[in-house]
Amino acid sequence: MSDILLDVKNLKKYFNTPGGVLHAVDDVSFSLERGKTLGVVGESGCGKSTTGRAILRLHEPTSGEVFFEGRDITKVSSQEMRRLRSQMQIIFQDPFASLNPRKTVSEIIGEPLRLYKVHKNKKEQQDHVLQLMELVGLSERLVNTYPHELDGGRRQRIGIARALAMRPKFIVCDEPVSALDVSIQAQILNLLKQLQHDLGLTYIFITHDLSVVNYFSDEIMVMYLGKVVEHASAQQLFEHPTHPYTKALLSAIPVPRLWEKKKRILLKGEITSPIDPKPGCRFAPRCEYAKPECFERTPELKENEKGHFTACHFSEEF
Ligand code: SF4
Repeated sequence: MSDILLDVKNLKKYFNTPGGVLHAVDDVSFSLERGKTLGVVGESGCGKSTTGRAILRLHEPTSGEVFFEGRDITKVSSQEMRRLRSQMQIIFQDPFASLNPRKTVSEIIGEPLRLYKVHKNKKEQQDHVLQLMELVGLSERLVNTYPHELDGGRRQRIGIARALAMRPKFIVCDEPVSALDVSIQAQILNLLKQLQHDLGLTYIFITHDLSVVNYFSDEIMVMYLGKVVEHASAQQLFEHPTHPYTKALLSAIPVPRLWEKKKRILLKGEITSPIDPKPGCRFAPRCEYAKPECFERTPELKENEKGHFTACHFSEEF
């Protein structure tokens, strides 16, 4: 029997801009089982980070529902949302930008404990901070250092420890390794996997890097200009992608063995504006399979095979 932690229904996040209404997230629906990872991928500006933030109500959704453990959190008061946020955390892309440079490691990790008044005294709180540091592989000797004294990997470990402080059930990992050196990326990914295993965490893992998302995810959702264009298990998506955009993204992943040749699909054509978009497939101007119908009718996300959803009028044809 499935154990759904998060159920997102018809989530929309629009922004008013001088040029019109920007449809950053447009009718996104999915559910996520406890202890699993949903990878969300797409190019910059596809709405993946806004989706993560709208789920946490860091951006107030324009419409739609977000059920967390069966409760629609879009309807709860801001006070109740503050309490729920201890269960729903985020790890940011740039650890340096997200950490207060004037605070020590101890103060940063201890901040949520202080805000939520978890401990009776400073000694208890400090012991908890040291436990969290150990959990994420930070040496105790760094407890009184400042973020600028540490490398990117250690800074990201601070961000992870802070996110874990309130024992959350669910974490949005928003490009957590893309600002790090390649040599450190694997260490942080391994740490996040280990923590998921040990603490039973559920993740949304946002990235533009499909090779990272394959390593990390149970399911993958591909977004293009605010819309979900494909959603499947990681295995289905990598073995049998059915949307032309996913195929193009996969073709751009470097092959590990240089003698193996892979044909890269180069996307040409203009990117449709997400401001007041017209009906039709938003990928149509860049799609090599586009037909006149694609410019008139918006494709629905349909289940082509069990658990494999695609938003394309002609996905069965190629
Ligand atoms: Fe391409 Fe048409 Fe499918 Fe859109 S609906 S991905 S334009 S074939």
